[in-house]
Amino acid sequence: MLGPVILAASRSDKMRRFVSSAPGTKQVVDRFIAGETVDDVLPVVQDAAAKGLEVTLDVVGEDITTREQAAAARDAYLELIDRLRDLGLGTRAEMSVKLSMFGQALEGGHELALANVRAVVEAAAAIGTTVTLDAEDHTTLDSMFAIHEELRKDFPGTGCVIQSYLFRTEDDARRLAASGSRVRLVKGAYKEPASVAFQDKAEIDKAYVRILKILMEGEGYPMIGTHDPRIISIAQELARRAGRKLDEYEFQMLYGIRSDEHLRLAAEGHRMRVYTAYGTDWYGYFMRRLAEKPANLLFFVRSMITK
Ligand code: FAD
Repeated sequence: MLGPVILAASRSDKMRRFVSSAPGTKQVVDRFIAGETVDDVLPVVQDAAAKGLEVTLDVVGEDITTREQAAAARDAYLELIDRLRDLGLGTRAEMSVKLSMFGQALEGGHELALANVRAVVEAAAAIGTTVTLDAEDHTTLDSMFAIHEELRKDFPGTGCVIQSYLFRTEDDARRLAASGSRVRLVKGAYKEPASVAFQDKAEIDKAYVRILKILMEGEGYPMIGTHDPRIISIAQELARRAGRKLDEYEFQMLYGIRSDEHLRLAAEGHRMRVYTAYGTDWYGYFMRRLAEKPANLLFFVRSMITK
């Protein structure tokens, strides 16, 4: 019940101001966000690498309103990639990007986001790594998939995300599996209407398994983005049945969530990639994490009261 209310609040400027300045917020935010600057996040990448984990790095931010902000977002990724190259971490870290942060919703935004993200994909390729396009709300997805297809002409390793809560996703999965793409499958984190998405958790989970089967049996590289223990064991079984070796798919989880499980899967020989978000514009990302688990909200409220 609380999830949709928190997701609605994630779009409110008033709530943004309140949450950002509330006492105790930082303590809770730190659980999910690996720092505010490149200097904060690089030791986290090094630590992950030392533990046998890979990362995908997200400079937090979304829904920007000017072309200058979009250019700044691109430049933040370019700086990150430079620093990863200097430390020889290029092959351990890939990038995750939200096209809304690159200007997708502005006038002429499709072309603008494509140009901005292309610069990041080129720089990533130059240090031997890749970029994955995150999935945002359903109104943005046709543009995201078109940009993904365009980028793949020159950079076939560019990945994208699909969300099992959307009715459209089985068809998207079939198309992407046939074209041999890297695809991260997640349940979906936005507030979507009943006209386009399952509302019932059991339906979303069942769809996840159906779509995962399509990806596992296809030509691409499935990236299993979930913390759900039941789905993780089903994924292992589907990979076995599809005859996939351990390096022919990977698990992905979010920084700060089920960290023991990251290590357990890596110790079993799986490729485990931790989605590691950092930066100052953490509000939307943080609110989605609260919405996913009401216990996080209780923890947040308690930390505000006890401050
Ligand atoms: P759930 O059934 O929600 O959770 C299973 C268990 O995981 C819970 O019981 C709990 O123990 C734990 N858990 C899950 N979430 C939390 C949390 N916030 N705090 C504490 N424990 C938690 N969504 C998008 O819409 N677009 C994207 O591009 C996107 N990228 C993602 C990338 C990665 C690597 C991952 C892991 C998720 C991503 N998501 C994205 C979020 C995703 O859609 C889900 O909202 C999120 O993963 C929770 O779903 P779940 O599969 O973990 O299953």
